[in-house]
Amino acid sequence: PRKPPLLCLNHDNTSRQCLHIDKYLYSMRFSDETLKDIMNRFRREMENGLERDTNPTATVKMLPTFVRSIPDGSEKGDFIALDLGGSNFRILRVKVTQDKKQPVQMESQIYETPDDITHGSGAQLFDHVADCLGDFMEKQKIKDKKLPVGFTFSFPCAQTKLDEAVLLTWTKKFKASGVEGMDVVKLLNKAIKKRGDYQADIMAVVNDTTGTMMTCGFDDQRCEVGIIIGTGTNACYMEELRHIDLVEGDEGRMCINTEWGAFGDNGSLEDIRTEFDREIDRGSINPGKQLFEKMASGMYMGELVRLILVKMAKEGLLFEGRITPELLTRGKIETKHVSAIEKTKEGLKKCMEILTRLGVEPSDEDCLAVQHVCTIVSFRSANLISATLGAILCRLKENKGVVRLRTTVGIDGSLYKMHPQYARRLHKTVRRLVPDSDVRFLLSESGSGKGAAMVTAVAYRLTEQARH
Ligand code: BGC
Ligand code: MG
Repeated sequence: PRKPPLLCLNHDNTSRQCLHIDKYLYSMRFSDETLKDIMNRFRREMENGLERDTNPTATVKMLPTFVRSIPDGSEKGDFIALDLGGSNFRILRVKVTQDKKQPVQMESQIYETPDDITHGSGAQLFDHVADCLGDFMEKQKIKDKKLPVGFTFSFPCAQTKLDEAVLLTWTKKFKASGVEGMDVVKLLNKAIKKRGDYQADIMAVVNDTTGTMMTCGFDDQRCEVGIIIGTGTNACYMEELRHIDLVEGDEGRMCINTEWGAFGDNGSLEDIRTEFDREIDRGSINPGKQLFEKMASGMYMGELVRLILVKMAKEGLLFEGRITPELLTRGKIETKHVSAIEKTKEGLKKCMEILTRLGVEPSDEDCLAVQHVCTIVSFRSANLISATLGAILCRLKENKGVVRLRTTVGIDGSLYKMHPQYARRLHKTVRRLVPDSDVRFLLSESGSGKGAAMVTAVAYRLTEQARH
C-alpha cells in the first residue's frame, strides 16, 4: 500500500534526502491499514491472556493486579513508596490529607542502582533497596515508625493478592539472579529484617502502569487506563471482572496489567520486524523476549537509530562512507539524543554536535538525513503504541456498550515526557484509529511511585474500616 511521506521537520518534505530515506526505511513506516491490523492482532492477544484455556500459553499475560477501585478521595495517612524498575530508583514519602487545595504532599529521593546491583544476586539487590529505605527513613526521621509501604515494582508479576507478587521474568536492564519465581515482598521483608534497625509494613505491590493510573485517578475519576512509555513500555486498564477468568467473581472491575511489551514474542509481529529489530534483540540480555518493547520503548530507540546509520554509512549513503569506532560502539547514540535531534528549532544544530562527537564529520545534508531517520524511528514507536492503546480503548468501549467512549489515559515515562514530538503524534494517531472517542491524556508527574502510595492508602483505608 502507498504510504504518505513523513513530514520532514525543518524543510519541505520533497527534499531528495528525505524521500530517499522514506524509501530506504519503507518497512518502518505504517499505513493506517497496517496500524488497524496490528490493533486487531493485539485485541486477540488480550483475549488470549484473559481466557482460562489460552492464558497458560498467552504471550500478552494480562495479569490481574487486585486493584479494584480508584481512590475515592476519602483516603488519608502517611505512606512510603518505593519505585524500582524505571529509569530511576526513587523513594517517596507521600502524605495524603483531606486538604482541598493540596491533598497530596510528596518528598522524594533518587538512589543509584549500579549495574553490579541490577545484574548481581537477588539478595544484593534487595539488601540495596533495604539500605536505601533505611537511609531515607533516617533522613525523614521516621525510623521509629512502622509506616505502610507501597512498592512500585515495574516488572511482570503474578499476583494472587495485593501484597504478594511473584516475578515472572526480568525485563529492561535488570537481571539479578534468584528472583524470578520468587515473591518480591518476601525478599524485601527478609532484607529489612536482616538489617533489624527499622520496620516496614509492605501493603501493596503495584506495576508502574497501575501506579500511574491510580495517580491520575485521584485527579480525574474517569481515568481507567495507565501507560508507560519510558525505558520500557506497558499499559494497564480497568477490565470487567466477569471477563477475567483467573479471578473469582463477576461483579465490578479489576485493573489488568497487560504486559504489552511481550506482544510479538510468539511470532505475531514477524512481518513488521526489521533487520534492525532483530539485531537489537540478538544483542540484548533477553533475546526473543519483549519484542514489542524493543521496537517501541526508550531503552532501544537510540540504538535502533545507530544501527540504521551504520548500515547507511557502510553503503555510502551517509558521511561519505566514513565509519568511526565511536559510530560502531553500542550505546553511543541514546534516546535522549534522538529527542534532542528532533527539536524543531535547534535539532539540526544538536544533530551536528552529536554526529561530530562520533567523529563522522557530517555535512549539513547528513544532518538533515539523520534527523529524518530519527523521525521515522520515533514515529514508528508512537504508531505502534497508538495501535495497542487503540485496542485497549476499543475494548473499553465494547465493555461499556457505548457508541462514544469518553475516557482518560494516565501517562508517564521518560520518552513520552522528553521527546519533543512524541506526545502530539501519539494523541493524533490514537484519535484517528479510535474515531468514536473523546480521550483525555493526562501526564502523571512521578505518578508511578505516588500511585503505589495511593493504592496503599486505599488498602489502608479498607483494613482500617474492617478493623473498626
Ligand atoms: C515491564 C513492565 C513495565 C514496563 C514499564 C516493562 O519492561 O515488563 O512491567 O510496566 O516495562 O516500566
Ligand atoms: Mg471472573
